Amino acid sequence: LYLDQPLEEGREIPATPAQAHYLGGVMRRAPGDAVLLFNGRDGEWAATITALRKDRCAFRPDRPTRPQEATPAARLLVTAVKRDAMDWMAEKATELGIGLIQPVLTRRSITDRVNTGRLAAIAQEAAEQCGRLTVPRVGPAAPLHAVLDAWDGTPLLVGDERRESPPLIQAAQTLSRGTAWAWLVGPEGGFERAELDDLRRRAFVSTVSLGPRILRAETAAVAGLAVLQALAGD
Ligand code: SAM
Repeated sequence: LYLDQPLEEGREIPATPAQAHYLGGVMRRAPGDAVLLFNGRDGEWAATITALRKDRCAFRPDRPTRPQEATPAARLLVTAVKRDAMDWMAEKATELGIGLIQPVLTRRSITDRVNTGRLAAIAQEAAEQCGRLTVPRVGPAAPLHAVLDAWDGTPLLVGDERRESPPLIQAAQTLSRGTAWAWLVGPEGGFERAELDDLRRRAFVSTVSLGPRILRAETAAVAGLAVLQALAGD
């Protein structure tokens, strides 16, 4: 379980009401049971549930079980699409080890409203479920051009479904394992030609293909991340 609290041996810490509900109501745990805790800073700790009522729960960290891992450098830039697809991408990207989920707004984005708090909660739950010791950050939704103008030069791979780009697998092989990279997919309507041209003018951008079929944005996001993680992930 993730808690934004310092983890120290014997120092009792409160759980959130949602965690109390999950542990008591869903998992049917009881005081004295063991849980694993992390906070993104102090590694993983084995802890004991010291109190558990309907909306209140507390833990006592007993001993460290895994050292803290670094926040992954990999980033996902995802164009705002419909809510279910955004939720799904946030969950899968977390499982696939992303460090930052950055919603971007493009000309064909169907919405400019992204509930980043909701995405952060989904990312936290997915991090707990998959056993990582960091929760990806969810950036505020921002126009793509603004994100590109402030870019730090990290290689940015962009999904292109127009059959004009080399395979992602080729580009991914040129990246060194464990170094930073970012993956960007467009909205359901794709990027406008001018947006693609603007992307291609940037030295840090490579447009790449995931094959001859047109994938949904969320499929392209997750398929690309799987390839990138397999070849250049940490
Ligand atoms: N404009 C397209 C159309 O209607 O023909 C569809 C865009 S697609 C649903 C959404 C995004 O997924 C694209 O902007 C691209 O980034 C990514 N994508 C989809 N298929 C892809 C492929 N075969 N290779 C690389 N990226 C792909």
